Amino acid sequence: MRVGQGYDVHRLAEGRKLILGGVEVPFEKGLLGHSDADVLVHAVMDALLGAAALGDIGQHFPDTDPAYEGISSIELLNHVGELLERKGYVIENIDATVIAQRPKLAPYRPRMAENIAKALKLSGDRVSVKATTEEGLGFTGKGEGISAQAITLLTSLADYCYDDRMERNGCAACQGCKSGGCGQKPVEEETL
Ligand code: MG
Repeated sequence: MRVGQGYDVHRLAEGRKLILGGVEVPFEKGLLGHSDADVLVHAVMDALLGAAALGDIGQHFPDTDPAYEGISSIELLNHVGELLERKGYVIENIDATVIAQRPKLAPYRPRMAENIAKALKLSGDRVSVKATTEEGLGFTGKGEGISAQAITLLTSLADYCYDDRMERNGCAACQGCKSGGCGQKPVEEETL
């Protein structure tokens, strides 16, 4: 098993939409950024990439690349999910917290979690989105910005093998993926 954590902050500014977890939340300000500045999804992506030791979102989706200008972060999350899948990782769960003084996010949390789960092809019970204020303290408390934190747990298809057969022989066609789904040729039963 592999654990990963992600953290992100974006500044609140006039004239921007507030997008959190792929949901447009009605508010007088929005988050400033190169993409849609979805601080929640950014923290989730960094947690996932961190757990797999695959760098961070700045490396995968540089904010100097015009291709990512105004892009939906949910779309980027979908790419991260596909990358993990190709590397043989299974996402066990994601738990995330948005820290914002305003607006009230409780009514939007279920849709945020649903969007994240859908982008990663996960069942809804594997994604949790929470929201809190910081009691008026700090930059989030003063309404200067919004931050988000996320933690995730991944397992690797290799974790399902109970000895070192994967290392010696490649995929052992174990119960983890049943059919050599990691891309390696399944090992014949008698060689196990
Ligand atoms: Mg960000």
